[in-house]
Amino acid sequence: MSCKIECEWLKSKRILVNPDGQVWPCCYLANSTYMRAALGYPNSYTSKETYRIENQIINLEDAAVRTGQQVLLKEYFDEKEQYNIFHHTIDEIVDSKWFAETLPKSWDEPERVLHQCKINCSKSET
Ligand code: SF4
Repeated sequence: MSCKIECEWLKSKRILVNPDGQVWPCCYLANSTYMRAALGYPNSYTSKETYRIENQIINLEDAAVRTGQQVLLKEYFDEKEQYNIFHHTIDEIVDSKWFAETLPKSWDEPERVLHQCKINCSKSET
């Protein structure tokens, strides 16, 4: 079985700007990366005995660590100023290599495709 990605936000021609000015192709990536920044960019996670109510829905620290480990997002963050609305226009950002080539190409690369793309936008094929 393989997974075909159909980018929901690309199809509806939407894009998202976070309060810090970072432009993201969708809320799935914007939310998870903003949450990671709010938690101080954790690189490791230790399981806890007790969980707060929000961790019963999603384990935030664990999700933040896993988000930061993805190669495609590391590539984005290596040049994050290029994708920030306070430094570049929306046109420059959506025409940039990461938005126009790297991300769409990753949808056909099982070893690089983002977890968020897989869980939110994959159409299963047999
Ligand atoms: S998760 Fe990936 S495929 Fe889905 S809308 Fe966002 S960028 Fe597009």
